Amino acid sequence: MLSRLLFALFFLLVTVTCGYWLNGSVGIWIAAVGVLIALLFNDYEKGHRLEKWVRRDDPTAEAHLTGFWGELVDRIRRGFKTRDQLALQHQQRLQEFLAAIQASPNGVLLLDPEGRIEWCNQTAATHLGLHEQRDLGQHIVNLVRDPAFTRYMAQGDFSSEVIIEGRSISLSHILKLQVQLHPYGENKKLLLTRDITARAQADQMRRDFVANVSHEIRTPLTVLGGFVETLQSLPLSAQEQKTYLDLMAVQATRMQGLVSDLLTLSQLEGSPPPPVTESVDLNPLMAQVKSDAASLSAMQGETGLPVHAFSFTLPEHLHLAGSRAEIHSAVSNLVNNAVRYTPLGGKIDVVWTLGDEGQATFSVKDNGVGIAAEHLPRLSERFYRVDRSRSRESGGTGLGLAIAKHIAQRHGGSFHIESELGQGSHFSLVFPSNRVKLEAPIAQLQAA
Ligand code: ADP
Repeated sequence: MLSRLLFALFFLLVTVTCGYWLNGSVGIWIAAVGVLIALLFNDYEKGHRLEKWVRRDDPTAEAHLTGFWGELVDRIRRGFKTRDQLALQHQQRLQEFLAAIQASPNGVLLLDPEGRIEWCNQTAATHLGLHEQRDLGQHIVNLVRDPAFTRYMAQGDFSSEVIIEGRSISLSHILKLQVQLHPYGENKKLLLTRDITARAQADQMRRDFVANVSHEIRTPLTVLGGFVETLQSLPLSAQEQKTYLDLMAVQATRMQGLVSDLLTLSQLEGSPPPPVTESVDLNPLMAQVKSDAASLSAMQGETGLPVHAFSFTLPEHLHLAGSRAEIHSAVSNLVNNAVRYTPLGGKIDVVWTLGDEGQATFSVKDNGVGIAAEHLPRLSERFYRVDRSRSRESGGTGLGLAIAKHIAQRHGGSFHIESELGQGSHFSLVFPSNRVKLEAPIAQLQAA
């Protein structure tokens, strides 16, 4: 800057001296005005070139300016670069921020002061059935038509959340959403949505379970209470008293069975899966199941002999890695059900088979009452019964299949039901190959 000033002064001095030498004092004025005009024109022209270069907003372009103007260009170029770098950093940060919101399991939606959608993530769009791009600028109340949401928006108190129905995937799968608005900035709003379908279902299941258990316990308790009152208030003969006490014992046994099944279920739910290190020899286990089934069958007749035709098949030396008590419980529940739901003279086939992939399948086939197709999907739910009175009469708790399914799953296996009304049923448990072992008895191993 200083050198430019010195150059201008020097140029002025030389020109003025020449002017004086050529034309006296008038020559001085002419020379001075001429120099000033030349300098002004020069600056105007360079300033104009600088302005054009700045307007291009391209720090990589050449400005073709030197000296003072060239320095100015360099400074502006550095400013441009810093600005571009900062803009890039902000852009990247914004993209990361948006990606994080997109990854959120919760829906996030931004509303302008009029309640129009400014931005939403994919989750919010899925929850509320919106289109991420097409619905931008639309009023949220026009798109989310749940009456609870309309009321929530109208009342303007956003201190608590509201539960609404989201866009359902199917009729059987209704999405439950927890939605809350959070005002921010200048009258803008942040809308958060959370899928609480699983929680709502779990709450409902818990309520149903408590109601079912209370109902199941209340029935035998009422009967017991009635008998106690009768015994207390009526002068009964010894024979009559015995009859009542026998009936009371039946109800007490029923309650014991229910409590025991409930305890089994809660133990299954509260403990880790059985380790693969414990080996269960199925031969003695099945011998026990067979003998219990024969006794249960005999109780249905009057001769003291089983009233069903049984066939039990089991590959030799079959062992399963898992819990003996659990496998026994699952297997005997299915066999006992076959006995209970097959009329006298019916046929019950119990078989263990080994599959091609090393899995072991336990199956019980009967030609009993069978089950209509509409009941099959819900059959292994707790307390689900096709015929309540038949289940109760035969000492059922409504928990046997739920227990069997749970046990199969805890062993990494699966539970299957096939049945036809009036034709019979086929229940099976499949255990994966990592739980199957074929082991010769110790005596045989030693002899080998
Ligand atoms: P329950 O104690 O009532 O037998 P389960 O959970 O063992 O309870 O069985 C649920 C329902 O499934 C039973 O109430 C019965 O209606 C039906 N069921 C189970 N096993 C059989 C079978 N072998 N044949 C016909 N129906 C069956």
